[in-house]
Amino acid sequence: MENRAMPDKKGYFGEYGGKFVPETLMPALDELEKAYTEALDDAAFHEEFKILCRDYIGRPTPLYCARQLTAKMGGATILLKREDLAHTGAHKINNALGQGLLAKRMGKKRIIAETGAGQHGVAVATVCAMLGLECIVYMGSKDIKRQASNVNRMKLTGAEVRPVNSGSRTLKDAINEAIRDWVSNVETTHYLLGSVVGPHAYPMIVRDFQAIIGREAIEQMLRQYLRLPDYLVACVGGGSNSIGLFHAFYDEKEVKFIGVEAAGQGLDTDKHSATLAKGKTGVLHGTKSYLLEDKNGQISETHSIAPGLDYPGVGPEHSFYKDSGRATYVSVNDAQALEGFKLLCETEGIIPALESSHAVYYAAHMAADLSPDKIIIVNLSGRGDKDLDIVNRALKI
Ligand SMILES: *Cc1c(COP(=O)(O)O)cnc(C)c1O
Repeated sequence: MENRAMPDKKGYFGEYGGKFVPETLMPALDELEKAYTEALDDAAFHEEFKILCRDYIGRPTPLYCARQLTAKMGGATILLKREDLAHTGAHKINNALGQGLLAKRMGKKRIIAETGAGQHGVAVATVCAMLGLECIVYMGSKDIKRQASNVNRMKLTGAEVRPVNSGSRTLKDAINEAIRDWVSNVETTHYLLGSVVGPHAYPMIVRDFQAIIGREAIEQMLRQYLRLPDYLVACVGGGSNSIGLFHAFYDEKEVKFIGVEAAGQGLDTDKHSATLAKGKTGVLHGTKSYLLEDKNGQISETHSIAPGLDYPGVGPEHSFYKDSGRATYVSVNDAQALEGFKLLCETEGIIPALESSHAVYYAAHMAADLSPDKIIIVNLSGRGDKDLDIVNRALKI
C-alpha cells in the first residue's frame, strides 16, 4: 500500500497519535499491530480482502458524473464517489470487513464495537454474520432511540446491542464502554474500532482498509478523464471516509484536499462538532489529537444534525494534515447540510446521508466559483435512508 511513511514506529503523525491506554491493553495493541504487519505481507490476505470487496461489498463503487448538479451550479464538474452503493449503504463496511478478516487471523471469535448512528454497528454485525463471529455492539441509549432502524438491522444479523446509559448516552460513552469490555476480555476479543481514531495502530489500519476508495478513484479518473481531479471533498467525523479518499492522492500535491466538519447550529455556539476548527490538542480515547472541551476541561457535548459527525475528537492524521496544510478544513451547518441533502435528491435522484450532505453542500457551492475545466470529487460516504425521520422532522414534510 502507498505512503507507508506515516505513522512512525510509535504511531505518530507528526506530534499526533500514539498509544494512551491502560497497561492491560498494551499486549493486545501489540498483538494487533503484529498481526496486521504480517497480514500486509501475506498475498492470501490481500486476495481474500479483494475478492470479498468485489463480491460481498460490491466494489469498485462507481465514480459518477453528477451532470444535473454540475449544470445547476454552472462551474466545475462534480463527480460523486458512490460509497452509498456499498453493501449496508456506507463506506464503513470496508473497514469492518478488513478488521473482521484480521480478527479471524488472530483467532479471536468475539467482536465488540461501538456505534453512534448505527452505520458502523450495522457494518460490523453484517461482517460478523458472514464470517461466523460473535458480535456485541455498544450504543448510547439516546442513539438507540434516534436510530431505531439500524438497531433492528444489527439484531436481525445476530448482534447483541448493549445500551450505554452513562454520560451523554451517545458515541463517546459507547467507546468508553467498549474499551472497558476490551480490558476485561482481551484474550478472546477483538475491538473493531470504526474510524481513524483510537490508539495506534487503529488510525493506520482503518485508513489502509478505507484507502481502497482513493485507489479506485485514481484508476477511474485516469480511465474516464485521462487526468487526476483538482479537488477532493469529504465530510469529517472521526475522519475515515475522508482519509480513505485522500490517502492514495497524498503525493499528488496539485490535488487539493478539503475536509468538511459539522458546524451544527453555528461555530459561535456550543452546539457543533467542528473539532479541527475549534478544538485544542489533547488526549481522547487513546490518541493525541485535536478535541473539543469545555471551559472546565471536560470533553464537550457535541451536536450535529448528522449523527455520524457528532463526535468531539478527530483522527490524528487529520490533525497533522491541518497543521502541515496538506488539507484544508471547512465547516457546514445543519441548515446548509439539509440544503445539500435536498439539492442532491432533486438534481440527481440520489438521497445522500446527512453526513455526506455536508460535503455535497460545500462542493456544490465551491463548484459555482470555479471554471468548467476543474474537476471536484465528492465522497458520497453513505445513503440517506437512515436519516429520513430526522429530515422529515427538520423540513416538516
Ligand atoms: C460514520 C459516517 C461518517 C463519519 O465518519 P468518518 O469516520 O469521518 O467517515 C460519514 N458518513 C457516513 C455515511 C457515516 O456512516
